[in-house]
Amino acid sequence: MLYGALEAGGTKMVCAVGNENGQILDQLSIPTTTPEETMPKVIEYFKAKISPELPEDERITALGIACFGPVDVRKNSKTYGNILNTPKIPWRNYPMVKAMKDALDIPVGFDTDVNGSLLGEATWGTAKGLTDAVYFTIGTGIGMGAMSGGNLIHGMLHPEAGHLIMSRVPGDEYKGHCPSHGACFEGMAAGPAIEERWGKPGKDLADMPEVWELEAKYIAQAIVDITMTLSPQKIILGGGVMGQSQLFPLIRKYVTEYINDYISTKELRNINAYITPAALNGNQGIMGAIRLAEMAAEEE
Ligand code: ZN
Repeated sequence: MLYGALEAGGTKMVCAVGNENGQILDQLSIPTTTPEETMPKVIEYFKAKISPELPEDERITALGIACFGPVDVRKNSKTYGNILNTPKIPWRNYPMVKAMKDALDIPVGFDTDVNGSLLGEATWGTAKGLTDAVYFTIGTGIGMGAMSGGNLIHGMLHPEAGHLIMSRVPGDEYKGHCPSHGACFEGMAAGPAIEERWGKPGKDLADMPEVWELEAKYIAQAIVDITMTLSPQKIILGGGVMGQSQLFPLIRKYVTEYINDYISTKELRNINAYITPAALNGNQGIMGAIRLAEMAAEEE
């Protein structure tokens, strides 16, 4: 069975065709500019994949969308499938699901980009077989996808753990970069905060240990908070900032220190597997979108 997959990101739209094994058979990236400019190209890509001129077994039967947010993922909501108050102004209130359903008339699955990445990892990657896991992306912003009891968590909207309130690390005077909260997790630890605090982008700070010590302390705080609230079996870290692989041992060290033996589980004793990089080579988002399509097809 073939599925369409759309990883809708702030800089590019990754359009793909995949199968039930998560294999990506075709892929095209389209720059994200405005809906008027970008979406006709996205729709054109998928329309060609449902063309009656294709043999039936070469057509996609459903589409999955993993979308930058905030988005409305509440299925009973009037604005289900819409992008909400994103800082990318032209995309505010854009009805992503409706646009694709109207154009293609096939089942459409929809979730946040981070839930998509988590779903990819939980289906084919490092969280395969687990029922409770968390995926953080730490890059230009910070987002978190979460799965509890085998279900992706939405709740009243969807988790926004990039905006957890942080305890300031002693000696760090940086005011924080979040327009809403200043010194929240994203405000203290996302890429733009690193660049503003140290005067250079993270990629040019790789050989300054103090940068990554501080960064690891903020990331560890967030991981401890999520460990204590959601009790996940695994925490996956992705995104541009986590390309600094020296962060992983530091984060594990501080998480262990901050938990301070208050809980002891086999997962925490095996901290290298508990806090781990994504395993699907950057394809976790698009593969998660394939699985979202398959789930939408199963549902209809
Ligand atoms: Zn914030």
